[in-house]
Amino acid sequence: MVTDTLEIRYFDSLDQLGTDLKVGVSFEKGREYYFIVGKDASGEYNKFFKSYCCDSGIAIGDLIGSINAIPGVPSSDKVYATVEEAYTSLKDYVGKLGKRTSKASIVNYVIFTYSELIYGNVSGNPFEKNLLILPLFVEVMSGLIRDGVNYNFRKSDKILSSIRKYQKTLAVFAEDVMLYEKDTDPKSAFTRIDQHRIPSVSFSGLTTLICNNPEPEIDLVEAFIPNTFDDLISYLLNRYVIGYHFYRCANCGRYFAFTTDTKNKSCTRVIESAHYIKDIGRTCRDVGRLRSHVRGLYSNETQILYQRNYKATFARKSKGYITEEHFAAWSETARQMRDKCINGDISYDELEKWFLDNYLRE
Ligand SMILES: [Zn+2]
Repeated sequence: MVTDTLEIRYFDSLDQLGTDLKVGVSFEKGREYYFIVGKDASGEYNKFFKSYCCDSGIAIGDLIGSINAIPGVPSSDKVYATVEEAYTSLKDYVGKLGKRTSKASIVNYVIFTYSELIYGNVSGNPFEKNLLILPLFVEVMSGLIRDGVNYNFRKSDKILSSIRKYQKTLAVFAEDVMLYEKDTDPKSAFTRIDQHRIPSVSFSGLTTLICNNPEPEIDLVEAFIPNTFDDLISYLLNRYVIGYHFYRCANCGRYFAFTTDTKNKSCTRVIESAHYIKDIGRTCRDVGRLRSHVRGLYSNETQILYQRNYKATFARKSKGYITEEHFAAWSETARQMRDKCINGDISYDELEKWFLDNYLRE
């Protein structure tokens, strides 16, 4: 399944969107695709507007927010406050519009509003996030298409309050059913948990095939189109319990899903704000990998011995006491000796003696 390019897509006519819009989901090759569909004149969901994509469990994790207080990563409260603010100002905006405002222009304004929340782009690295806020805004679009500025926002208000409720129950689900450290078998954890503490796993809607890639090769994928936002959440939970585990990212503290064959403890989210400027624009996974590599090397006594000698020799070369040529030959052998020591071919004392015996002087 392919996503459209990471650009805000506006539509040209209401006919393009259809009516009774929904956000459906498809699980494909370790990723989740959320797409907007509408009914055509025959009442079938044949109008496909746009799909958005994230790695498994990222959307649920984004909705819950960071579990630990981590600078630059939004908490549950912050996630909710941001959505609520955007939604409230959207309602205010629509409330002030004249009766003759074109539906198309208002709906495009909704697209603009939610795009601000779901698109990120740091250091030239574009990505999508917060995809589970889409149903809220798509409901508004649907209402505006039907009723224009007379839309009463009742159904979307309900979705907003559901978002608040789900942040709490999904956190319980993530932690007590799905978290790999707590239970390696989500199915048995699920059968033990008090079902009132987690969202329902019963859903209704339509399971169908959608064609998202008409050229060059037709790509038909299984897709679920829920009746309501609650049905979408319940469907996701079903998928997770059956086929996934969760981790809480070691870097950003947000949940993500994995199947049993990948055990990386950092997520693939792009870091938007961080203590180290260099980390911004990288993924949690890249940063985690880098840190553990560096930690492994530096904790090693052998590496410390090597670095101390290397730095001292390098300094003497910089001052002109040693030629570039001799330094190059020495550092090559020094590296080989260090690796021999790490591999256990020579002892630490032997390596230390080697550095003393091979002190470079011209
Ligand atoms: Zn992360």
